[in-house]
Amino acid sequence: MPDRTKQEYYKQWREANKEALAEKQKQYYEANKEAIAIKRKQYCEDNKEELKAFYSEKIQCKCGAVVRRSGIARHCKTPKHNKYVGSL
Ligand SMILES: [Zn+2]
Repeated sequence: MPDRTKQEYYKQWREANKEALAEKQKQYYEANKEAIAIKRKQYCEDNKEELKAFYSEKIQCKCGAVVRRSGIARHCKTPKHNKYVGSL
């Protein structure tokens, strides 16, 4: 089977089994909740410096404001940003 067809087939299959897959994922998460949390925490611990550097890196928002990556979500709710969005 050519790759393209295979991809299409897989896409259709996934679409048809969407709910079952979501349910399965949910079950997997429930069953492994603690392990996942530990793993995630461990990852954060192991990469503390990198993550800190990553999130404190300054980036320029499309509205022109320079904000830290960690503050971008909050920034998007500020009047300054909304004014820009509203002017589009
Ligand atoms: Zn902005």
